Amino acid sequence: MAVLPIRKYGDDVLRLPAEPVTNIDAPMQKLIDDMVDTMYAAPGVGLAANQVGVSQRLMLIDLSVGKRRGELHVCVNPEIVDASGEVTEEEGCLSIPDFVEIVTRPERVKLRYIDRNSVEREMWGDGLMARAMCHEIDHLNGTLFVDHLRGFKKERILKKIAKLAKGGMW
Ligand SMILES: [Zn+2]
Repeated sequence: MAVLPIRKYGDDVLRLPAEPVTNIDAPMQKLIDDMVDTMYAAPGVGLAANQVGVSQRLMLIDLSVGKRRGELHVCVNPEIVDASGEVTEEEGCLSIPDFVEIVTRPERVKLRYIDRNSVEREMWGDGLMARAMCHEIDHLNGTLFVDHLRGFKKERILKKIAKLAKGGMW
């Protein structure tokens, strides 16, 4: 098991729509274990495979960040099959460290995915879980939370990142 480097805003792999996983084989199981270590070390509540440079449709969510058993969800080829409501809350991203901004997301989301044992599952999430599901699915489609921002809020974050990058601090 290993902690992998997390790709940051500006890395092309974050903009590439990820490919469906065709086989949950031994290398995929190792990637999952490494991603779990990486997410907990960050620490974060969610991580998509392309954030560690692997363009495959795999994402993890654990709202307890490893503190409670049974809260880790390993989602292969996930898709949102139902959603309702709307909540506007602060959101951040491990690939855009130290920035948070408010983003509107559905209040409840139904996710369909395959778990690491190749069992197809469906799960409803609400509140922070729904937000995490949408955020990680966005990653797999090459979308970042800043893409949901408009006008001044978006410009402000992108300008700050550009400045950090220019100074070699990103
Ligand atoms: Zn993110």
